[in-house]
Formats: sequence, C-alpha cells, structure tokens
Amino acid sequence: MEVKKYEVHLKEMLAEIINELQSVGIQNPQTPSDWIATPQELDAEEPDENLSADVVEDWNERNALVSTLEPQHNAIVRALTKIEEGTFGTCEICGAEIEEKRLDANPASRTCIAHREEPVR
Ligand SMILES: [Zn+2]
Repeated sequence: MEVKKYEVHLKEMLAEIINELQSVGIQNPQTPSDWIATPQELDAEEPDENLSADVVEDWNERNALVSTLEPQHNAIVRALTKIEEGTFGTCEICGAEIEEKRLDANPASRTCIAHREEPVR
C-alpha cells in the first residue's frame, strides 16, 4: 500500500478542515480534539430588530458546522497517527486491510467496507 500518497492527501484534508473550523470556532487548547463554536463578531454600529434572530440563526449554523466537521477533523488526525504508528489501512474492527478503493475515497476511513456501518469507538 502506498501510505505516502494517503499521508499527503490527509494532510491536505486536515489543513482544509482546520481552515473551515477556524472560520466558525476555536480549538480547545486543553483538548485539541474538541472544537468550540464562537459567535460571529457583531457590528455594533447599527442595531436592528432582526439582529437577534439572525444572531441565533448564525449561532445554530456555526454549532451545526462544528458538530459536522469535528468528527471529520478527529478522524483525519487519527489516520495520520496511525500512519506514524504503522497501523494505517487496517480495519479497527476486524483488523483486515481496508480496501484501497475505500481509502482512495476517504483516507480517514477507520474500517473495511464490511464494517463501514459498525460504530467504532
Ligand atoms: Zn473490518
């Protein structure tokens, strides 16, 4: 298996996702796997009555984005750690090699195709 190719791809994915996460939140300095949504900076000049509804909506969107991206971020970090440890590309449930086409589609995959629906801890 060409681990190097996946490593390059994973690092690109990580940079991209960190960029996205940083646009809506901050990384918890104590727990790097934890991202926290931050409120949008408000323009205090012109208060208008729709503002608070907009702020709430924006806040919900930011939180939703963080909840979507955070597990992806952590899966990528985990895959990169597995590369370092030499265990990259093995299914975390059965230990079999993960199909290359699956890794090509998503190098942060943690399981083989047979176990893709199984929850991994
Ligand atoms: Zn498996």
